[in-house]
This record gives sequence, structure tokens and C-alpha cells, in this order.
Amino acid sequence: MKNTSIDAMSYQGNKANFRIILFAFVYLLLAAYNDICKSETVNVEHAVLIFSGHVKDPASKIDHMGAKSYSGIFEYQFNDAIVRYFKSDFYQVLGIYYEVIQASGNMGLQERVNYANRIIPDLYIEIHHDAAQAEDIEKARRAGENSPLWNQMSGFSVHYSESNRFPELSKTFAQLFADEMLSDGFKPNLYHVNVEEMICIDRKRGIYNRISPWGLFVLYNVRSPAVIIECGTIVNPHEEKVLSLEETRIKIVHAINRAFMRFFNIEIEE
Ligand SMILES: [Zn+2]
Repeated sequence: MKNTSIDAMSYQGNKANFRIILFAFVYLLLAAYNDICKSETVNVEHAVLIFSGHVKDPASKIDHMGAKSYSGIFEYQFNDAIVRYFKSDFYQVLGIYYEVIQASGNMGLQERVNYANRIIPDLYIEIHHDAAQAEDIEKARRAGENSPLWNQMSGFSVHYSESNRFPELSKTFAQLFADEMLSDGFKPNLYHVNVEEMICIDRKRGIYNRISPWGLFVLYNVRSPAVIIECGTIVNPHEEKVLSLEETRIKIVHAINRAFMRFFNIEIEE
């Protein structure tokens, strides 16, 4: 009985040893598999840094809440309303790491540049909504909501800078994004070139090169390809209404994501 019991114990012991060896083997197998997966993920991972333009509570003289819409809403709220989508997995493209910072986070211009240059993303974008010169807005307001004067203050635009460290890559992303917007029926903003005489390198796409005297601090100083997207013109009463719709915002989010995919050569999975 005793012997049997010892035998039984040693059998149990062998069984336990076998289990430990089996666990160790499976563990090593999983670890190796995990490493392979990780290295695959690293190969396809691209980092984008998305900032919502302006800040909710300005703490310095160079920061503000952005333009005021026709109905009196500050721009940063429109910017946040687009940017927040990218925080959700549902609106993130597989293979892209999204770092999203909203205007409500109150990160000023200098801090943005410092932050971007610490993490060095593959692409830096800022989301904005456009305005126009105060006197033109005033003139159109006096002429009424249905005045044709609003037509010149409308549309989206994309801004890059030849003074950025990666002008060609920045311009490429600007072109890809503009093409996606045009295919969705959005119209380019030509107010900045027709009225303000900014340097527009592509009128069809609404692409502007922001060099002196039209330079932009962030585009000059960020050490990554960088663009500023003006989604549309909120000082225009008709565009403000369209840009306030979730449907329009989601369209813009998808246009940005499709441009990311083309920029990073990410295949579309059917
Ligand atoms: Zn802005």
C-alpha cells in the first residue's frame, strides 16, 4: 500500500514535471510568436501627431482661441470637434499610431513645437477652421447672409512651408489630402491668394506655401513633415452650418485617414 502510494506520488510528480515542461515550452513558443508579431507591427507602424489648432484658455500672448465663427463660436471648438474622432479606435487606421492633442489641453505654440521635436512623429498635422480679414467679414455681414460676397471667403486649404525641414514630404501630404477633399466635393479656398496675395502653389487644390512674410512658427520649427489644414471657413454663415454637421466632420476625418494611408503606403483591406 505504502509502495503503491509512493509509486502513485512519483507518478503524480512526473505528471507535474511534464506539465511544467509543457507550460515552459508553450510559453517559449508564445513568446517567440509574440516577438515575430511585434517586429511586424514595428515595421508597419507610423506615428502621426494631430493637434487641434489654438487653445481653450490662452496662457501666453502668442496663443488664442482662434477665429470667431459667423454665429460667434470660437474656432478651437470646431477644431476639437474634428480631432476628437482620432482618439477613437474606430477612426484609426491600422498600422498608424495616433497622438492626439486637443485645444482643450491648452498646449501653446512653443510647447507644441517642443513636444513634437521630442517625439519626432512621421507627420505633424494641425486642424484649423478659417477666417478672413475683419473688414471683408464686416462688409459681407452688412450685405446680409445671402450676399455673394461670402463666396470669396469659403473653402478648405492646406498649408505647408518650404522652410520646413521636409518641404517635399509636407507638400506630398498636402496634395494627397486636398485630392481626397476634392473627391468628396469640398472646394478650395482662394481668398488667401486672390485677396491676401499669399503664395498659392496649386489653385486647384488650395495649397499654400507659408514662407516669409506668410511664415508660420510651427511649420518652420517642427522637425517632421508638417501641414496645417484649414477644414473650411467658419466666418461664412453657410459654411459654418455645414461644418457644424457631424456628417461633414466625419467626411473630413475620413479624407485625412485616406490621405494618411496613401502617404504611408498602407494597403486598403477589403
Ligand atoms: Zn486657426
